Amino acid sequence: MSAAPTATSSAAAATSPTSSSALCPHCGGSGFYKKAVPFGHPDFARLFPCTCKLAEQEQREAARLLEISNLAAFLDKTFETFNPNVPGVRRAYLRALEYARQPRGWLILFGNYGCGKTHLAAAIANQLIQNHYRVLFAVVPDLLDHLRSTFGPSSEIEYDQRFEDIREADVLILDDLGTENTTSWAREKLFQIINHRYNFALPTVITSNRKPEEIDPRIFSRMSDRALCEEHIIIDAADYRRLPIAQRYPIASAQRRLK
Ligand SMILES: [Zn+2]
Repeated sequence: MSAAPTATSSAAAATSPTSSSALCPHCGGSGFYKKAVPFGHPDFARLFPCTCKLAEQEQREAARLLEISNLAAFLDKTFETFNPNVPGVRRAYLRALEYARQPRGWLILFGNYGCGKTHLAAAIANQLIQNHYRVLFAVVPDLLDHLRSTFGPSSEIEYDQRFEDIREADVLILDDLGTENTTSWAREKLFQIINHRYNFALPTVITSNRKPEEIDPRIFSRMSDRALCEEHIIIDAADYRRLPIAQRYPIASAQRRLK
């Protein structure tokens, strides 16, 4: 029993001199630095976090976001596995692709259940994570459940931390807006998150299958600000189901005609 902890601690002892011998050239390993400014300068004697410390912090934040995201269920939802040739989805596909390359402003995808909007939203998330963005992908009702579960007098710090992570993610992807249950607490939290993203013009993707009038008007008005969001993309893949059989399944119909 005692062998394992000993091995672990000696391993840790063996690695720490190595890491401290490769001290950060900017801060000498302290994690902070001072600017070379004269006395009287507002930055004089102030400590600034070093890039090495920031990188560490970013990694921790990214890990926490991944934990909330629960993207594991959506790992196969990538651009490669999306079929852009299904009628009605092409425009949304191209916009999503562009957004994943350069996330700026808000991308809003409306469409019925099964139209592919969640697939596109997850594809954006997976792509951006690969490119080292701190991404939070969340199905809105799950996100609110998660926040509620960490909310409480005993876990105030954890809750504050989570809320901060969500608000400040490089890219926040909210799937299925409008399906959340509408306790006033949840409504308020969701509004606070979205309002923060709005006030600071932070990259945000929102999908919904609701009609505009079914969305909290405070949220919808922010989604409709042209400065952040040029257009609402409506995926009309329902057209696909309305197509005549011959167009939906051209090969099968041709075979039928041959018989
Ligand atoms: Zn450093």
